[in-house]
Amino acid sequence: MSRVLIIGCGGVGAVAIQKCCQASDVFTDICIASRTKSKCDELAEKLAPKTKTNITTAQVDADKPEEVVALIKEYKPDLVMNMALPYQDLTIMDACLECGVNYMDTANYEPEDIEDPEWREIYEKRCKEEGFSAYFDYSWQWAYNEKFKEAGLTALLGSGFDPGVTQAYCAYAAKHEFDTIDTIDILDCNGGDHGYPFATNFNPEINLREVSAPGSYWENGRWVEIEPMSVKREYDFDEVGKKDMYLLHHEEIESLAKNYPNVKRIRFFMTFGQSYLTHMKCLENVGMLSTTPIMYEGREIVPIQFLKALLPDPASLGPRTVGKTNIGCTFTGIKDGKPKTYYIYNVCDHQECYREVGSQAISYTTGVPAMCGALMLLTGKWTEKGVHTVEEFDPDPFLDALDRYGLPRRENRSPELVD
Ligand code: NDP
Repeated sequence: MSRVLIIGCGGVGAVAIQKCCQASDVFTDICIASRTKSKCDELAEKLAPKTKTNITTAQVDADKPEEVVALIKEYKPDLVMNMALPYQDLTIMDACLECGVNYMDTANYEPEDIEDPEWREIYEKRCKEEGFSAYFDYSWQWAYNEKFKEAGLTALLGSGFDPGVTQAYCAYAAKHEFDTIDTIDILDCNGGDHGYPFATNFNPEINLREVSAPGSYWENGRWVEIEPMSVKREYDFDEVGKKDMYLLHHEEIESLAKNYPNVKRIRFFMTFGQSYLTHMKCLENVGMLSTTPIMYEGREIVPIQFLKALLPDPASLGPRTVGKTNIGCTFTGIKDGKPKTYYIYNVCDHQECYREVGSQAISYTTGVPAMCGALMLLTGKWTEKGVHTVEEFDPDPFLDALDRYGLPRRENRSPELVD
């Protein structure tokens, strides 16, 4: 019996909410709260006849901590699931601390305004000291560790697919498959086709920021940074086929490097089609990816937010998207004194997801692990206090839950490796 406050009802939130309703023995009461309450009401109405979970809705602007605090005090949840944007991570964590409630999210903090001088100063110092220049990093949320520990609370960070399941795959490999791991390659393939020349399959602002940034990877105890999209490989993905993939910076590399200090190299690759890359480059060149406000006809607009308004809503891609995703990790290392390779991954079909929850596979592969992460906290499988990423917990019950709730693992003990 648990009460859960879910903030955000977009592509990912809608899947997580539907999955919580499939486990109504644990998620007995949920409150769906977002900036636009009508979206929460619409989903609540659709789910009410199909679930035993009691669903209520609320309006909240999570940029305003006092609103989140008031809502938590009124609803009295056991857990707050942040399914909004990374911009809201810190305000929601602050509210959870103030009210004594556990917290979880699917992506690490980044600021909405990257020109904010106070943030910029800390960011530039970090770029110099750490050697990677992504706008997001874990330092902001790791700084809450002592406060959460002292309050006897848990904050679970990044419980989506990547970050999230990919780290559980690493924890699983470390626990069951290897004595020592030498290299980890995280491979994220979306073989789906939505038929538009250009669209992003999750929040466009967050997605385009990530993809247009310099890539980086961890090697021999330090970051190596590269020009955006300058390392390309081809990989033959199970059930998808051969795809071009590009080395990106990705947040879980940072926590994996900290938690597995003996791993020599950790990289992240994501597949992109040529049409996506050409459009993105063009939009970047004309300034449409900028987050700096400009004046237009007497009104301030942020170019990337205007672009977001023009692009298809990721939540609308579901009925049009066909094909599969394949996301997982390849490992090299040693077991019982012998060299070993291992690949653990999931294949997810866009149309099957649409039939089940009305969303494409990107929202599905993020929303299901969010619900499974919440399940681990609510059922006492993951109890460590403080601020933690997924690889710090026992991967077994989490992977079992993923198998059960729609993202079953597959394994290959002689996989193709990436050079
Ligand atoms: P959407 O833009 O579809 O949804 C965001 C939701 O958050 C909307 O309901 C929006 O409300 C709400 N929201 C935004 N700002 C506020 C605010 N200030 N207060 C309250 N609610 C707010 O995004 P997605 O669902 O595609 O993505 C959600 C998260 O999932 C992102 O953080 C993204 O980075 C993460 N993600 C993680 C992945 C992983 O594998 N770990 C993969 C993909 C995404 P409104 O409708 O009013 O705009």
